[in-house]
Amino acid sequence: MVTYAAPLEDIRFGLYDLWDYEARVAALPGYEDASRDVVDAVLEEAAKLCVNELLPLNRSGDEEGCRFENGIVRTPSGFKEAYRTFADGGWCGLSCDPAYGGQGLPKTLQFIVEELICSTNLSFGTYPGLSHGAYNALALHGTDAQKALYLPKLVDGSWSGTMCLTEPQCGTDLGLIRTRAVPNGAAGPDGSPAYRITGTKIFISAGEHDLTENILHLVLAKLPDAPPGTKGISLFLVPKFLVRPDGTPGPRNGVACGAIEHKMGIKASSTCVMNFEDAEGYLVGRPHGGMRAMFTMMNTARLAVGLQGLGLAETAYQSAVAYARERLQGRALRGPRAPDKPADPILVHPDVRRMLLTMRATIEGTRALALWIGTEVDIAERHPDPARRQAADDLVALMTPIIKAYGTDMGFEATNLGVQVFGGHGYIREHGMEQLVRDARIAQLYEGTNGIQALDLVGRKLPRHMGRLLRRFFHPVLAFIEDHQGEAELAEFVLPLAKAFGRLQQATAWVAQQGLRDPEEAGAAASDYLRLFALVALAYMWALSAKTVLKVPQEERSAFHHAKLATARFYMARVLPQTSSLFAAIHAGAKPIMALEENWF
Ligand SMILES: Cc1cc2nc3c(=O)[nH]c(=O)nc-3n(C[C@H](O)[C@H](O)[C@H](O)COP(=O)(O)OP(=O)(O)OC[C@H]3O[C@@H](n4cnc5c(N)ncnc54)[C@H](O)[C@@H]3O)c2cc1C
Repeated sequence: MVTYAAPLEDIRFGLYDLWDYEARVAALPGYEDASRDVVDAVLEEAAKLCVNELLPLNRSGDEEGCRFENGIVRTPSGFKEAYRTFADGGWCGLSCDPAYGGQGLPKTLQFIVEELICSTNLSFGTYPGLSHGAYNALALHGTDAQKALYLPKLVDGSWSGTMCLTEPQCGTDLGLIRTRAVPNGAAGPDGSPAYRITGTKIFISAGEHDLTENILHLVLAKLPDAPPGTKGISLFLVPKFLVRPDGTPGPRNGVACGAIEHKMGIKASSTCVMNFEDAEGYLVGRPHGGMRAMFTMMNTARLAVGLQGLGLAETAYQSAVAYARERLQGRALRGPRAPDKPADPILVHPDVRRMLLTMRATIEGTRALALWIGTEVDIAERHPDPARRQAADDLVALMTPIIKAYGTDMGFEATNLGVQVFGGHGYIREHGMEQLVRDARIAQLYEGTNGIQALDLVGRKLPRHMGRLLRRFFHPVLAFIEDHQGEAELAEFVLPLAKAFGRLQQATAWVAQQGLRDPEEAGAAASDYLRLFALVALAYMWALSAKTVLKVPQEERSAFHHAKLATARFYMARVLPQTSSLFAAIHAGAKPIMALEENWF
């Protein structure tokens, strides 16, 4: 069984001390009630829910998995009850619009709660997670009538949602979609024109299950007059049960689950083949505007997937620390630490500490980064000054692929280190550590593989508006370095940051120049560049964290503060130097990658 308690002290540090939640988020219009007290109370409740309801189902859910019986998908024992508790507690609508029954709390808080859910039961989290994606798509692109009809059901959790993009012949390349939508001449319950949708979607998370009375599928399909490629994709809402104008579910629609996948991890999350046969659906947004609609919604979804990596890594870290305190093997290199015992706890060994600190430093750094970007999501939505909103939106757009890819790579690496700390016992199922690795693996793949995130960063985000997005990150980092480079107490944090930031600036210029000359150069550099960027972003987080702790008078510093400073030092000294090798790899260019003839592979 894994060890987990919600890391509320670190979350509060990031939220209040580092990112000044009260001034930056609670002061935004509409968030007046989301005071620190309210946030603290919500976090306490979320922690209880996750630890008491979701965590106990994590391993049994993995063992039992979902079952497919005559077109019906049954979730593992206990999931229905836990989902009811979750929905009844209002968690499906935490950050949703009060006009549709939501609690209207900040997105920042939603992100934090998502981390806790993913730490305790990622499989469970996929069901409300997908519903939230559907909520966002409809809230952003639906008509008023569509919103009025469907959103309250997603908010109260009585219905759930899906995102149906993938088909057998198309995953990354959605331009290859074959699912068709033909106008059927009638009108849907919300008055919008109805279509007949036909096609097969695969890998659809939460496509079919027994948790809710209806499922709203958001489906990408092509209209008869669609231009080729991604410009010809439209978004449709296809309910499992057709909805009557009064909002009650009616007869079954022409959509059914054909099978569920048997997979490496998140076994309690149903991954479905969905067959649409003349299913009735309604256009969401404009004809051929499906990719745009999906992208606006995918940004929040990508941030949320980054948090999946973070959440699982946290559980792996806490479990590994607990184990390293208990497990007695060998003696400390400088002499026994527990002479009364047959051996010392493995926590004394430098190599075990290296693993634990690598986990901790990357987890806390990623959390600080996610909290920054989470608060900027709220600012982008609510700040009264349009220029500030734009700046926040730019930063979120820039950092989204970084949080998604780095957060999930880090999640996989940290859970893997967790197994290593457990030794052979980590490989044995009963400890729960191997499940964390298996569950973490998917997050590097879905919502756009991490390779595709890197291409998004290099190909779309860097050049956009002549580098304007990039400046939203570069300027504050540069200002921080300039403001603090003369301060002796901060030198051990600011100097390595400045050096790594210099590498990032040079690598950025190289990627931009080479990429303009030859797009293959940009493609070859992309993943290493994203990693370099992420490591510098985390260095900025650690330098800010150190500065924040150093402001606390010596005599008032707690163990938490001391550990923060020590972990910041570890990050700068033992993790950040990886930027050197990434820098060298980027500058080696595409040639060593592209030199092999295809038939030499
Ligand atoms: C458990 C699970 C749940 C999922 N849930 C959903 C869901 O709810 N809804 C949904 O629609 N889909 C879902 N998916 C699908 C998922 O989003 C896709 O698997 C993913 O986008 C990758 O597509 P693919 O598997 O077809 O891989 P491919 O696109 O075939 O990619 C294969 C490899 O090639 C690389 N590659 C592809 N194109 C390029 C390129 N242009 N440049 C560089 N590299 C490239 C990729 O990075 C990858 O490494 C889910 C998948 C799984 C396994």
